[in-house]
Amino acid sequence: MMKPKKSLGQNFLTSGKAIFEIVNAGEIKKGEIVIEIGPGKGALTEELLKSGGKIIAIEKDRELISYLEEKFTKEIKNKSLKLIEGDILDLDIEKIIKKDEKYKIIANIPYYITGAIIERFLSIKKSPELMVLLMQKEVAERIVARDKKESILSLAVKFYGIPKIIYKVSAGSFFPKPKVGSAVLKITLNKIHKEKKSLEALYLNIVKKSFAHKRKMMIGNLKKEIKDTNWEEIFKKLNIKTTIRGEDLSEKDFTNIAKEVKK
Ligand code: SAM
Repeated sequence: MMKPKKSLGQNFLTSGKAIFEIVNAGEIKKGEIVIEIGPGKGALTEELLKSGGKIIAIEKDRELISYLEEKFTKEIKNKSLKLIEGDILDLDIEKIIKKDEKYKIIANIPYYITGAIIERFLSIKKSPELMVLLMQKEVAERIVARDKKESILSLAVKFYGIPKIIYKVSAGSFFPKPKVGSAVLKITLNKIHKEKKSLEALYLNIVKKSFAHKRKMMIGNLKKEIKDTNWEEIFKKLNIKTTIRGEDLSEKDFTNIAKEVKK
């Protein structure tokens, strides 16, 4: 019996209901490509396979790779499952997914790299059309801004798509039990038109700089961090109060600010 590795964020799903909710949220059509990050012992993989998707599973733990190769010999042979040993953050997606192919990411991810996974897959050239991720509940709530307070992460996600919490998962649904609550977050990615895409780097930079000192007003942060812009004028033009904090503005507001800066 393999001992779960804490360092790799190994908390294996034991709840059929949670697995059902994740797969269901993925709305997989027959033959669709699904990337699963960290298949672990294959509990979710098994159901993803039943949904008729073509599953590509990336697992860092070599021991688990051997286990999965044995468990899914048939599926690997008939090419409904491709197993890749590696680190999801190093993976070159363009080598795996062809130029004209779409894909979805559906996974119970290792929580220690949640932010890195989201940032990477939203901003890469070949991004997925949908992400369904089981993650720490607090992080999912921060991304949807449940308390109406935005953050760098929530504003980054909302630039690319629409996040929605689908289902809450209790710690008892895993082995071993994680110390935190969990939730399934679905991010539907928008088709980003050229004009918006051209604002991407600027938007992300303005968001980041607006939160540089959280307690300070946003305009103060921006003035200090990005000096060659007339922030007072832009705020006035967009009818944004100069006393506002970054957490109280929406993705749309930040996009409008980026547009003005670019002019
Ligand atoms: N999918 C399984 C389940 O739901 O039971 C396991 C989920 S467990 C939370 C996370 C999995 O991701 C583990 O199997 C772990 O070994 C794997 N993992 C951790 N870091 C990884 C990385 N950087 N790249 C790919 N897989 C990773």
